[in-house]
Amino acid sequence: APIISIRNLTKTYGNGFKALKGVNLEIEEGEILALLGPNGAGKTTLISIVCGLVNPSGGQVLVGGHDVVKDFRQTRAMIGLVPQELTTDQFETVWNTVTFSRGVHGKKEDPAHIERVLKDLSLWEKRDNMMRELSGGMKRRVMIAKALSYEPRILFLDEPTAGVDVNLRREMWQVVERLRQNGVTIILTTHYIEEAEEIADRVGVINGGELLLVEAKTALMKKL
Ligand code: ADP
Ligand code: ADP
Repeated sequence: APIISIRNLTKTYGNGFKALKGVNLEIEEGEILALLGPNGAGKTTLISIVCGLVNPSGGQVLVGGHDVVKDFRQTRAMIGLVPQELTTDQFETVWNTVTFSRGVHGKKEDPAHIERVLKDLSLWEKRDNMMRELSGGMKRRVMIAKALSYEPRILFLDEPTAGVDVNLRREMWQVVERLRQNGVTIILTTHYIEEAEEIADRVGVINGGELLLVEAKTALMKKL
């Protein structure tokens, strides 16, 4: 069974605006999916509903077989959400920041797991540094480490490379590739077609609240 199943999903905001107009999408475990679309397309709305942060107007979303509205606690625990903004205390160490995130999500302490996560993200040498001492790329990796700290099966990356330079973008792509090898299902949003092409198995093009196509990335490149 797919790890995420989205059926006929609609969202109409209080002001009558139709942000999602019947989205259908199934995502397999271990897959990397890029959601490509311009500002206002509905990407954040879609992610917010899957994470259980916004209620759908119609349709259904199942995560690991559980309904995201009815079984919010179970489904939220399966999902790591990496927002665009850095939300860390500048005067806290990397180790504490990541360890604290695990605690916030109700998981038992597991230093061995935190060590693995920091090593996977090439942050191990920086574990005793304060957040404010890190480069921009390292700070972004700590945001991912915070999400991985509580062992989610699914990772959402909201515009992981928005406003970063070419080198940092390549670094983030490598990070995603390494996470794939650990079997984490990854859904990322992006404005950049090259990014979708480079790192995703499939690309969903979302525009005006509709998912226009979801195909193998090579097929996408031929169409555009
Ligand atoms: P994206 O993430 O692709 O930029 P969003 O999902 O954030 O798109 O927004 C989709 C559309 O829904 C936009 O036109 C946005 O203005 C509108 N929208 C988002 N949130 C609300 C809200 N709370 N009330 C009304 N309209 C909203
Ligand atoms: P989520 O991953 O669910 O977005 P966060 O880990 O960002 O949650 O933060 C959860 C809560 O813990 C927030 O209210 C945040 O302000 C608080 N928090 C996060 N990190 C720290 C910290 N190092 N010290 C104190 N409070 C923190």
